[in-house]
Amino acid sequence: MFEKTRLKLTAWYLLIIMLISFTFSAVIFNVQMVEVERFARAQRTRFERQYRPDTFFVSQPFLIDPDLVAETQKHLLSNLLIINSIIIIISGGFGYFLAGKTLRPIKEMVDDQDRFISDSSHELKTPLTSLKSAMEVALMDKTFTLVDAKKLIKENIADVDRLHYLSESLINLSRNKEQNGNSIFENISLSIVIESAIKKILPQANNKKIVIKKSLVNTDFCGDKEKIENLITILLENAVKYSSSNKTILIKTAKTNKTLSFSVTDHGQGISKKDLPFIFDRFYRADPSRSRSKAPGFGLGLSIAKMIVEKHHGEIGVKSRLGHGSMFIVTLPRNVS
Ligand code: ADP
Repeated sequence: MFEKTRLKLTAWYLLIIMLISFTFSAVIFNVQMVEVERFARAQRTRFERQYRPDTFFVSQPFLIDPDLVAETQKHLLSNLLIINSIIIIISGGFGYFLAGKTLRPIKEMVDDQDRFISDSSHELKTPLTSLKSAMEVALMDKTFTLVDAKKLIKENIADVDRLHYLSESLINLSRNKEQNGNSIFENISLSIVIESAIKKILPQANNKKIVIKKSLVNTDFCGDKEKIENLITILLENAVKYSSSNKTILIKTAKTNKTLSFSVTDHGQGISKKDLPFIFDRFYRADPSRSRSKAPGFGLGLSIAKMIVEKHHGEIGVKSRLGHGSMFIVTLPRNVS
């Protein structure tokens, strides 16, 4: 598909270059031929002036040799033909190279979308299949009681919750993917945004008796309040999700004249060196058997976090040791131009 489109684009480039080249060649040929004829006429006039009309030379036709004109014409034509062939060969190769360069970002975008669709449908399929088969098995069970029904509904609700979480994450992801669309940059206080993100996570933290500690310096900066809150919530949610009960999480801020930074540190399961380069990829989840985690998720949180940081022209990094914990650090410019 890519190769076919590349060849088509190359053919279009070639057609345009050939049209230009042939037009110029035709113009050059005509101008040169007019020039040759003008030269022949000038030559004749000069001879006529130099020698009297009754002299030998005037009556000799070889002074304006028509064969010479025809030969010049042939030479010119063959030269132009050679030049045009060289132009076509060079521009063919160059056009093919340029067509590849032009189409590559489009190809990458299409590949990325295909991957996204296939990953999303795979993630959607798993809970749907589990829902369907659980209900089919229950339907065929003749000894199915009300207690069993309640148990099944409970399990189904867990699957529906998973689907709900996934659809929310997908909407979140597509919202953040839009390049210029829906961002509202305003002056915001980082401490206030952190406080409201903590409020959201508190029920989950309390469930696991996890304490969230803060070390905040108040910093105003220009950003999209909703998205920054979303970013901090993702990092805090992960810190809670991947920590065992009774641990502590620390959120810390710092600032310089031009930048601000915040870090979320946990003492949870940590991330292995092998997984670290991929955790910001869409749908990537560290191997649960290695991380011994059964935490729910689809591997979308950190890719959304990265998009938000990039929208603010900032950077996100992570330091982690398997079994010891992780620290996610975000650095943002205080003024987004
Ligand atoms: P999700 O948490 O939904 O799986 P994320 O994109 O937020 O997706 O995270 C990707 C992966 O990175 C997770 O599956 C997990 O393995 C790892 N990860 C992220 N945050 C942490 C953390 N604080 N501690 C340990 N592992 C983490």
